[in-house]
Amino acid sequence: MILIIDDNPKSIKALSLIIRDFGQVIFATSGQSGIAMTMKTKPDLILLDVEMPGMNGYEVCRQLKADAATRNCSVIIVTSHSSVDHEVAALEAGAADFITKPLNAPLVRARVKTQLLVKKQADELHRQVEQDGLTGIYNRRYFDQQYAQEWRRHQRQRSPLGLALIDVDFFKAYNDHYGHQQGDECLRQVAKGLHSALRRPGETVARYGGEEFAVILPYTELGEAQKIGLWLCESIRDLQLPHAQSEVAAHVSISVGLASCVPDGRSLPTSLLSDADDALYKAKANGRNRAVVSDRVID
Ligand code: GH3
Ligand code: MG
Ligand code: MG
Ligand code: MG
Repeated sequence: MILIIDDNPKSIKALSLIIRDFGQVIFATSGQSGIAMTMKTKPDLILLDVEMPGMNGYEVCRQLKADAATRNCSVIIVTSHSSVDHEVAALEAGAADFITKPLNAPLVRARVKTQLLVKKQADELHRQVEQDGLTGIYNRRYFDQQYAQEWRRHQRQRSPLGLALIDVDFFKAYNDHYGHQQGDECLRQVAKGLHSALRRPGETVARYGGEEFAVILPYTELGEAQKIGLWLCESIRDLQLPHAQSEVAAHVSISVGLASCVPDGRSLPTSLLSDADDALYKAKANGRNRAVVSDRVID
């Protein structure tokens, strides 16, 4: 999707005709509404006019680049000034490229095509950096980053942050019996099952390690965490993946350890993790195929 921000409807029309083959084109007629629309629609590319009443294009570009929510949208600045100074100003404001009016249609198309390609490649790289190669869910790197961010957010808001650590039961025996390939397939199914058990926005499930998964549970107290732990176990039980070597069930099962706390200046993100880990250990020791909630109160 391409967003054109220009105060002149005629310019918008001319530009959209030139680039209509590149997909959906939307537009805004002021800097302010352009920023709002960028937030809402996250376009791949923005064609941004410089000369606009109120906020000019350079300022719009700076604001878009200063905000993490809009930073990844590429910007091409469109202006009737074709001096080196203006080109430098555009690049310094964070624009990826620069086009001058009067518009030359083949040139506009060539530049737009290049930026869309760059954006596609950047998106793909971004996805690979965050994604676990085997299961397709988030990886450990993304989890660590998201967990640190949620910790700070919950600390600011003095809200309870929940965490679930999940470990597949008797998975070594599963591998030994069914083979590593099928073990991999089992992990894919488990990841899918966990993902489908979660309902609320912000509940992030990630592959934490080999056959271990972790879920971040925003605004979740212990009571709620316990319920979610049961759902997670059920979601894997419902998959009905045969496990002939399990000592606790005929099917693949998981153990879940959960903890929750209201982060404050004295508590550490690692203490919540280690509480969830202790609870997971208890779930294993108490017979596996179950969810256990940490009884330790972090204060
Ligand atoms: P427990 O119920 O106590 O958790 O027993 P377990 O056998 O699941 O525990 P353990 O930690 O001994 O075994 C984990 C196994 O997970 C060992 C390892 O071969 C397997 N594993 C880890 N990562 C992968 C993977 O990516 N693919 C496959 N197929 N197996 C994996
Ligand atoms: Mg203008
Ligand atoms: Mg393990
Ligand atoms: Mg295990």
